[in-house]
Amino acid sequence: MNSSLPATIVCVDCGGECHLLSYEPHDGWRAGDVVAYRCSDCLDRWDLVLADEDLEDRQVSADGST
Ligand SMILES: [Zn+2]
Repeated sequence: MNSSLPATIVCVDCGGECHLLSYEPHDGWRAGDVVAYRCSDCLDRWDLVLADEDLEDRQVSADGST
């Protein structure tokens, strides 16, 4: 549980709330994973590919290189 994506993001189209559709894998999110959000206002679906930067600041350093 060292990484958690926001349950909602702001829709870039309408400013509404997009809810996370994807479930976190057992081994956690990794760069390259695709997560889907759906806007509750305009019903647009957003597929985001996770990058290292998306996860970096949430990772607990296990190798002591803080
Ligand atoms: Zn929207």
